[in-house]
Amino acid sequence: MTEIHIPANEAPAPGSKSFRELPLSPAMQETLQQLEYLEMTPIQAASLPLALAGHDLIAQAKTGSGKTAAFALPLLTKLNPRWFAVQALVLCPTRELAEQVSQEIRRLARGQDNIKIITLCGGTTMRPQRASLEHGAHIVVGTPGRIMDHLERGSLQLDGLSTLVLDEADRMLDMGFFDDIVYVASHCPPRRQTLLFSATYPDGIARLAQQFLRDPQTVKLAEQH
Ligand code: ADP
Ligand code: MG
Repeated sequence: MTEIHIPANEAPAPGSKSFRELPLSPAMQETLQQLEYLEMTPIQAASLPLALAGHDLIAQAKTGSGKTAAFALPLLTKLNPRWFAVQALVLCPTRELAEQVSQEIRRLARGQDNIKIITLCGGTTMRPQRASLEHGAHIVVGTPGRIMDHLERGSLQLDGLSTLVLDEADRMLDMGFFDDIVYVASHCPPRRQTLLFSATYPDGIARLAQQFLRDPQTVKLAEQH
C-alpha cells in the first residue's frame, strides 16, 4: 500500500496545483473556472491524480478540506450520460450531508448534459423515491439504511455501478451503519472503483477497506499544528 503524507500547512508551490494539470474535459475545466475553483485544495491535489487514474483510494481528511470535488470529478468523468443506469453511489452519514454532497455534485456537473442525481435518505416515505428511481438516475447519494431498503425491495439496481464512494466513513460507523455498508457494498459489481473518505482511521474503517477496496492508495492530510 502506498501512503502519501501531505503537510496541511505546506505553502502551495506556484502553478503546481492547478486543476489545469488534470485530465479533465474542456467542459469540466470551464465549470471549475466558473465556480472559481482555481487551485486544488491539498486533499484534492493528492487524491485527484490517483482517483482519475482509476485507483481505489483511502483518503483521510477533515471537514471543509474539499473532499466532495475529490470524488465528484472522478465519478463524473467516467459517467455515460446516455446510459440510464446508476453508475455512481455516494454513501453519507446524514440527510444533511447527503443533500450538501448532491448539491456540490450538481454544481460540478452543470457543464455535462442531463445528469440525473437522486438523493435517498430515511425519514420520508419510500414511494416518491421509488417513483423517481423508476425514471432513471445516473448518480445516487444517500444514507446507508435507506439505500439498503431500496436494494432489498428491488427499487434500486447497482449492476451498472462504476464508482462507490464512502463519504465520512468514520461517522457512518459511529452511527452504527457498518452492516448496512457491508450489505450495500456486496450488491455492487466487483469491477468498480471505490473511494473511501474519513477524518479518522479506526479499526472498523480498516476492516471495510480490507473487505471492499482493491489495492488502495492511501492519502493522508496531516493535522495542522
Ligand atoms: P468537505 O467535504 O471536505 O467538508 P467540501 O467538499 O464540502 O468539503 O468543500 C468545502 C467548501 O469548499 C465547499 O463550499 C466547496 O464548494 C469549496 N471548495 C472545494 N474545493 C474548492 C477549490 N478547489 N477551490 C475553491 N473552493 C473549493
Ligand atoms: Mg463532505
